[in-house]
Amino acid sequence: MEKIKMINPIVEMDGDEMTRILWHAVKDTLIHPFVELKTVYYDLGLPNRDKTGDQVTVDAANAIKEWRVGVKCATITPNAQRVEEYNLHRMWKSPNGTIRSILDGTVFRTPILLNRIKPVVRTWKKPITIARHAYGDVYKNVEYRVPGAGKAELVFTDASGKETFRQEVFSFRGAGVVQGMHNTDKSIRSFAHACFKYALSVGQDLWFSAKDTISKQYDQTFKDIFAEIYESDYKSQFEAKGITYFYTLIDDAVARVFRSEGGFVWACKNYDGDVMSDMLSTAFGSLAMMTSVLVSPDGNYEFEAAHGTITRHYYRYLKGETPSSNPVATIFAWSGALRKRGELDGSEDLVAFSERLEKATIDVLESGVMTGDLALLCKGQSDVRSVSYTEFLCAVAEKLY
Ligand code: NAP
Ligand code: MG
Repeated sequence: MEKIKMINPIVEMDGDEMTRILWHAVKDTLIHPFVELKTVYYDLGLPNRDKTGDQVTVDAANAIKEWRVGVKCATITPNAQRVEEYNLHRMWKSPNGTIRSILDGTVFRTPILLNRIKPVVRTWKKPITIARHAYGDVYKNVEYRVPGAGKAELVFTDASGKETFRQEVFSFRGAGVVQGMHNTDKSIRSFAHACFKYALSVGQDLWFSAKDTISKQYDQTFKDIFAEIYESDYKSQFEAKGITYFYTLIDDAVARVFRSEGGFVWACKNYDGDVMSDMLSTAFGSLAMMTSVLVSPDGNYEFEAAHGTITRHYYRYLKGETPSSNPVATIFAWSGALRKRGELDGSEDLVAFSERLEKATIDVLESGVMTGDLALLCKGQSDVRSVSYTEFLCAVAEKLY
């Protein structure tokens, strides 16, 4: 069988722990035998980030700007415990945070649905896509542990050096905490455009939720920018497609989501999107079945699985056990990146291969062969066989030969 040739490379970002093991297993079993893979490789594993002073993460993000398509393995965001575990020079920042602040953009997360697995919410019939603003707010915050009594203020000095705003945040009588966050009109505008464009491309309604009743400047700005851009650029296209855009408060949105049938795009601010996407993926089935793509305003794409490095499984793997880690979201990260590469390069073969890879994966799952996390959700289905990730990958590969 002749392997598919690639014109331009994909930026490949390796990662940590169990997902690093899955990463190479997916490539060896499902990609290399069929595609003459061209990648520009960056090792974002924690030891190499530490060795390079995290420069490798910045280099990888810049490479995505150059090559337009990247695929990323999950990575550890170090905390105090990890600093000790890996003997780190510093508590490096979240690689995803670094990459997102360089690329800007919006993260779209969509669950992969199976006929066999019924969502926890019985009314859901179609997937719900979360569009998460991937810039600013608490992810680019400045915070301070207030040691004792004193006053915290919010001060703005304009470009000419003149102080134009000063307001007391709080007068502390004792120890506490204080935090400053920001966002920019530019980033919010590109977030809005990305959401409207995505909803049009999939032909689904768009919801946007924030908390403008409480946050009368910050969240209100998001709401106003969405409304203005909808009116000026998208209203007629939405009407022509028979889809709608509406804004509602975040708490109302949560209540409506649970009564809905699914099949829409839910635009969320950065933190809401972080939390709600984990909730939705679990309610739809498993965190391991959630796809994720970052779309930047200038049309760059970064694909990844939504889950983390599955630390608990990795420790079992190190003891010689075969943990029931599910490689499906990692497979879809690769298929998504290969499809986008094929679309941008006009390579029909590559697009067709990524479709075949996704179909083979779904077919194996629907045939009852799956990793333990999914098998648990199919209790009472006698034809289900719980397999290791290696057996699962081989079953998918068999369908591709
Ligand atoms: P996690 O790695 O997503 O795992 C949480 C739990 O979810 C696992 O223990 C496992 O449950 C289940 N799970 C997740 N993915 C699975 C899969 N593919 N197959 C089977 N089960 C799966 O989250 P975490 O434990 O909170 O974080 C671990 C590390 O990942 C942290 O260092 C964090 O910084 C990092 N992280 C990275 C990213 C990213 O790079 N995008 C995202 C999130 C977290 P059971 O143990 O019950 O089987
Ligand atoms: Mg999260």
